[in-house]
Amino acid sequence: MLVVGLGRSGLAAARLLHFLKAEVTVTDTGDKNVLSQTLKNLPGDVRVETGGHSPVLLEDTDMVVVSPGVSLKQPFFDLAMELGIEVIGEMELAFRLLRPYGIPWVSITGTNGKSTTTTLIDLMLTREGFRVITGGNLGTAITEEVLRCLKDGTAGDVDYVVVEVSSFQLESIRSFAPSLASILNITPDHLDRYKDMEGYIKAKTEIFKNQTRDDCLILNLDDPLVRELGAHASPEVFYFSRQENPLTGMGGVTPPIPRGAYMRDGWLCINADGKEDRIIRVQDVRIKGVHNIENALAASLNAFLCGVDMAAIRDVLSEFRGLEHRMEFVEEIKGVRFYNDSKGTNPGSVIKSLEGFQDGVILILGGRDKGSDFTPLREYMKGRVKGLVVIGEARDKILRQLDGVTDTLEAEDMTDAVRKAYSMAGAGDVVLLSPGCASFDMFEDFEHRGEVFKESVRRLKNL
Ligand code: ADP
Repeated sequence: MLVVGLGRSGLAAARLLHFLKAEVTVTDTGDKNVLSQTLKNLPGDVRVETGGHSPVLLEDTDMVVVSPGVSLKQPFFDLAMELGIEVIGEMELAFRLLRPYGIPWVSITGTNGKSTTTTLIDLMLTREGFRVITGGNLGTAITEEVLRCLKDGTAGDVDYVVVEVSSFQLESIRSFAPSLASILNITPDHLDRYKDMEGYIKAKTEIFKNQTRDDCLILNLDDPLVRELGAHASPEVFYFSRQENPLTGMGGVTPPIPRGAYMRDGWLCINADGKEDRIIRVQDVRIKGVHNIENALAASLNAFLCGVDMAAIRDVLSEFRGLEHRMEFVEEIKGVRFYNDSKGTNPGSVIKSLEGFQDGVILILGGRDKGSDFTPLREYMKGRVKGLVVIGEARDKILRQLDGVTDTLEAEDMTDAVRKAYSMAGAGDVVLLSPGCASFDMFEDFEHRGEVFKESVRRLKNL
């Protein structure tokens, strides 16, 4: 077995395969010294290649497990295909290994909201008393979870596997067939890795390609790209919608409310079996923001279809405070409130975050560009954003694309950005870090970026 890419997921896959007594080789393009810490976590008899992927490794391999960070569009993988070697990813590997246990899988994809929705589902299922393993793009690699329960012999006790699946992870599935699949939204992202939007949408549809009539597909009715996907799907389709009267304006005379979850009279409601249940009033949902209502509806519908009681769903929605680095309130300094939305890594998520504010926002934007178009932000910034601070590699592009929308300053690093943003703010205003870009130009990852932002804010407070 050959594992390509030694990130979190590659490392977990290698350890899992080794536990199953496979002969394992790992290969990574990174430098040996940089990878030294990771390599320490591998069993001693795993063979390691660093600095590239040699074709010769394919000679004695019957399967390749590829990490989501590695692009499949490389001659190395073309050669693997030519040699008839199967190339799969961590989701597929985990799915195959757990298949004998017959556990239903719940899988969430979309451009934004995956981690929040996946966490909510995990909490709701757990609250109901189900035994759940959760992972994927979020938290631990799912192969690590599989290894844990195979080692301690608890795989047979698991009621549900809940996974957050990125489009990269969906590129390398083969037989993966979740019982419940959700597509939350599709807005432009990762266009540096996909040739165009069509390629990106195609990757997302992989999540239901192996589903049958016995499975469920949950789609966002308010997202035109996602809504359409239901037309040709084999599974039973349910929708969620943030609208009060979801199908009005879609051409129907007296449109039926589609089966699923939606808003009515200020309540989040579910009607999946012909009977409407009220879950909770919108103001009692603890996580704020319009996008989080969508996440709450999607999560509730998933939980309901898994057999979770309405009370357990309600409890979780009224208690869950949200994940770190997603619209996280940091501090208030002289009436200026600071929010950390470091996980807002594409323009679509910045738009949703802005929608939660009326006016007086100083937005910190920038980082590593992923081929994004920032011009759609113009419309949402008007009236809401009174100042913009740009950082990172994408600075010039953002300055060009958002020229003239609002007062704009450039900053050298995060501390500088926080100071400049504060200088533009007055009491009652909000400083929002929602960078709309990847973090890797200046930080290790989005968590690191969020931490540095929070530290800078706290230092400012102590001045
Ligand atoms: P993901 O795991 O898909 O990146 P998260 O739940 O971590 O999603 O949220 C990341 C960011 O995306 C949030 O900080 C917020 O700005 C935005 N966001 C969250 N949910 C949604 C949604 N349903 N629609 C659009 N944007 C969202």
